[in-house]
Amino acid sequence: MSEKYDVIVIGAGPAGYAAAIRCAQLGLNTACIDKSVDREGEPTLGGTCLNWGCIPSKALLDASHKYVEAKDHFADMGIKVGDLSIDVPAMIARKDEVVKGLTGGIKGLFQGNGVTPLHGTGKLLARHQVLFTPHDGEPQNLETEHVILAPGSVPVAIPPAPLTDDLIVDSTGALEFDSVPPRLGVIGAGVIGLELGSVWNRLGSEVVVLEALEEFLPMADERIARDAKRMLGSQGLDIRLGTLVTGAEVQGGEVKVSYQDADGEHSLTVDKLIVAVGRRPYTEGLLATDCGVNLDERGFLYVNDLCATDVPHVYAVGDVVRGPMLAHKGTEEGVMVAERIAGFKPLVNYDTVPSVIYTHPEIAWVGKTEQELKADGENYNVGSFSFAASGRALAANDAQGMVKIIADAESDRILGVHVLGPQASELVAQAVIAMEFDASAEDLGLIMFAHPTLSEAVHEAALGVAGHAIHMVNRKRK
Ligand code: FAD
Ligand code: AMP
Repeated sequence: MSEKYDVIVIGAGPAGYAAAIRCAQLGLNTACIDKSVDREGEPTLGGTCLNWGCIPSKALLDASHKYVEAKDHFADMGIKVGDLSIDVPAMIARKDEVVKGLTGGIKGLFQGNGVTPLHGTGKLLARHQVLFTPHDGEPQNLETEHVILAPGSVPVAIPPAPLTDDLIVDSTGALEFDSVPPRLGVIGAGVIGLELGSVWNRLGSEVVVLEALEEFLPMADERIARDAKRMLGSQGLDIRLGTLVTGAEVQGGEVKVSYQDADGEHSLTVDKLIVAVGRRPYTEGLLATDCGVNLDERGFLYVNDLCATDVPHVYAVGDVVRGPMLAHKGTEEGVMVAERIAGFKPLVNYDTVPSVIYTHPEIAWVGKTEQELKADGENYNVGSFSFAASGRALAANDAQGMVKIIADAESDRILGVHVLGPQASELVAQAVIAMEFDASAEDLGLIMFAHPTLSEAVHEAALGVAGHAIHMVNRKRK
């Protein structure tokens, strides 16, 4: 029997590695088990987010955005560029370098903070003990006081579109194309489908996105979703709603996709097909049958608001538990559990989890949508401000979209903030801070913002809730 740990974390994604680091910082003897390996077969930390998710997708989104800027928009600003071309292998290699730097950074953080990395597979046994099977060794039982399960999620597969080596791929495969596919199909107009569809569309693919639902981005505010669909459409993303994919097969080096819509059966031929129909909790091989941890009806590990499972001393955090599958939500849960184990009493506020879609313009929001409030019969006021009236957005030649703030009609407390526009991912943080401090729209309106900034659009939208926006025609005269 090896040494006894205070905490063993299974999974080194943003939920698990944050939990492990915080435990170690709080003086707990902590190990973190992770089984991921990179393309060279070397162990890698950081989970989906750093290796195959948030970071590589943003590296390609940023690179492809710069290309479109140079190709289509530099001339508007008086910048002439000569022959412009894309080097896809170089773009992918830069993305890989970014990933390598960050995953190496987690290794350094583990070393510096005193987390023991264990490369291999972890399994929860009865009495909250852990079976660790190293990549290159015999299984061993590890004794520990507490266990934090953070095994994350994996892409959902659908029977009509089985993956192939390189033509029908999931999000991981779509980050590795070695050239721009002339025709690209994407199944699913969710966050991942839109982001990866945008990357390749910007680089020159003709992209068709097939989405079973009739509604576009049902989780976003309706007005924002409508405007976003129009803008993405004008960039060339052909988003077909109400289309259910019923088959996909490789024929002569191409992919033939069959789908149904209200008009009947259709087919589409593409060079590559990305299956982006969602992710599911990853629990295969994680739990011994007698470990006592239960799953909920959708296959997530069952936890309470404090991320405690049904077994004392065993917690679960991140994509494997209920709630949005977002890195920052998992990180906050991991830190909360670490601090609770150490005797502190933090909470996660699930009402202020921001959502972002990194298209261009970006789409970001926090809190309730207008349609949710309407359905709940709430009374509310709305203030909005268009980036077309923002000096900074116009100066930057990036003036599409709007900020929309919804506040309670009686208390003026901010209930939801929705941004479609440049740097929406950054702007939404202001709304999260305001909502965490229970701010009213008036509170936000009374704060001074630097000029000229994109943030002024948030300020003006807050003022607009009571009809006080300065850079808008306002006849309420209050
Ligand atoms: P993961 O990151 O999935 O990590 C879990 C780790 O546990 C993995 O390394 C896995 O191999 C390991 N593991 C699992 N089981 C075991 C076991 N039994 N033993 C040992 N190790 C095990 N989220 C955002 O917030 N912003 C974004 O911009 C964003 N973009 C994304 C883009 C793409 C293309 C994808 C696919 C996802 C994106 N996400 C984004 C989602 C984000 O990646 C996840 O929400 C996040 O990674 C979840 O973190 P986690 O720690 O719960 O799990
Ligand atoms: P998300 O869960 O946000 O990543 O979004 C995935 C999207 O894929 C959802 O909007 C689903 O409706 C959609 N989807 C799932 N299966 C199919 C299918 N067979 N054909 C078209 N769209 C699908």
